[in-house]
Amino acid sequence: MPELPEVETVRRGLEQKLNNFIIKKVEVCRDSTVAFPTNKKEFIIGLHNSLIYKWDRRGKYLIAQLKEVPKENTQFPLENSPNNGFLVVHLRMTGYFKLINNSTPPCKHTRIRFFDKNNNELRYIDVRSFGQMWLIKQGLSPNKIIKGLGSLGPEPFSRDFNTKYLKKVISKRTKSIKAILLDQTIVAGIGNIYADESLYSAGISPFREAQTIKKNELIKLKESIVTVLKKSIGSGGTTFSDFRDLEGENGNFGLQTNVYRRTGKECHKCGNLIERQKITGRSTHWCPKCQK
Ligand SMILES: [Zn+2]
Repeated sequence: MPELPEVETVRRGLEQKLNNFIIKKVEVCRDSTVAFPTNKKEFIIGLHNSLIYKWDRRGKYLIAQLKEVPKENTQFPLENSPNNGFLVVHLRMTGYFKLINNSTPPCKHTRIRFFDKNNNELRYIDVRSFGQMWLIKQGLSPNKIIKGLGSLGPEPFSRDFNTKYLKKVISKRTKSIKAILLDQTIVAGIGNIYADESLYSAGISPFREAQTIKKNELIKLKESIVTVLKKSIGSGGTTFSDFRDLEGENGNFGLQTNVYRRTGKECHKCGNLIERQKITGRSTHWCPKCQK
């Protein structure tokens, strides 16, 4: 599943390459991809004449700010146009966008197609079809309509995500620290890959009961999370997740992982072999010697 760095890479690609894209036509190829409004006609009509103005990210959600541009010869700059709500996207396991300007016929996994007046297409493709989209009209609150979005914990790069906060959320928690990091209501955007990598970098065993982690270890953990995520954003995400950028590529260079999917290989620090075991159903990779 794409995690924060992959979703951020997609966001940057969309922001760079979708210039003044005004939606003139929408084709919904699979109804269940539209999570809200429940009537897909409302989704299609609501997006008509919407400028995709700006892309934001919150956790693993992509949030497009829309502007209303009803006339053909609109006055520039377009940012002065009235707001027209938000298009929110969650890629889940295998969702990705592709920009197409040569009318390539859609593959069977194409779920939603957006066209501008020149027939340029922003295509949403999703093999496993868990991805979802919400059109939140102006005046409605995305956080209220999308439960998962409204309940997200702080962004790892935000001020709110600090040692004091971590101390508070782990106190009296008997769950493993790995399970805590995967909990989106505690911290937004971390999934299996970056939880394993951050814990390795901090020298903390993923099995540790959260409440036993000391302050100096929390400082290290917080720093590790930020460093690992930033490094991965810099390399365009990892090739290990089912993730495609706008060109359909699986990660630009791909982050080299230290433990994730390195079971049985030598630890880069101590030479001991990396192990794997499940924690709450998720494959967990760690070095038993370096992580205590
Ligand atoms: Zn090691």
